[in-house]
Amino acid sequence: MFIYFNGKIVSSEECVVSPLDHGFLYGHGLFETMRSYKGRVFRLVDHMKRMETSAGYLGWPVLPDREVFAEAVNSVLVTNNLPDASVRLTVSRGIGAARPDAASCGQPTIAVYASPLPKPLPAAGWSLTTVSLRRNLSSPLVKIKSANYLDNMLARAEAKKRGAHEAIMLNTDGLVAEGSMSNIFIVSNGRLITPDGESGILLGITRNAVILLAQAAGITVEERKVNPEELAEADEIFLTSSIMEVIPVTVLDGRPVGHAPVPGETTLMLAQSYRKLAESE
Ligand code: PMP
Repeated sequence: MFIYFNGKIVSSEECVVSPLDHGFLYGHGLFETMRSYKGRVFRLVDHMKRMETSAGYLGWPVLPDREVFAEAVNSVLVTNNLPDASVRLTVSRGIGAARPDAASCGQPTIAVYASPLPKPLPAAGWSLTTVSLRRNLSSPLVKIKSANYLDNMLARAEAKKRGAHEAIMLNTDGLVAEGSMSNIFIVSNGRLITPDGESGILLGITRNAVILLAQAAGITVEERKVNPEELAEADEIFLTSSIMEVIPVTVLDGRPVGHAPVPGETTLMLAQSYRKLAESE
């Protein structure tokens, strides 16, 4: 596998990250996970913008230019001959002093790599379980895609332990937030409902695209606070993420979602429209 690492395309064995890198020492870094279709990353600019916003939250002085990232992504897809891939961009705060003083850091450490897409979703969709871990509404970290992903990993581990595909996390107010690596939507009485930006979620790029697709199809979309009871009573549930796109959820906390444990009509329509959009852009 060839990786873009600090300005060069190198083999994975040649990438060396210093133990004094603040990404390694303190989890001080950012990342984006994206998906390429026929050699083009869907909404690459939106991913760049989100990384810039995240860097702003963390007070980073600079982030490399978008063109640098775009070129890096392109080179990685071409060199690895992977036009349809999962693409990961990781940027750490860089090498600094062995104390939590970000001002001591030099240039950010940058890595871009591509890997084959995960296997397709099961036809029956995913099962979801509500985990005990809560999204902390007072922490800006829940709004950004930082390298500090331990809460997400703990939530996912809890879900796996219970045999579910994905976790659903409530926030510290007890309302619905998001999955460990995905945003959540419910379909209820023909309306599409998703937790709003103040619910302790990452503003997903897929989430945004799906909201616009639903509105274009004449569906009313509500971005608002969502009670866990609304999940239990939903006609349909689905998740969104750049890599897995629109993921039907047919089991919630061990019970079938809606009337039948199969993906719902609105979910399937939006999954198809999303794929079409992503392939055509
Ligand atoms: N929430 C979390 C916590 C995530 O890790 C992801 C995946 N990046 C998402 C939501 C979905 O975001 P996107 O649609 O931009 O991939």
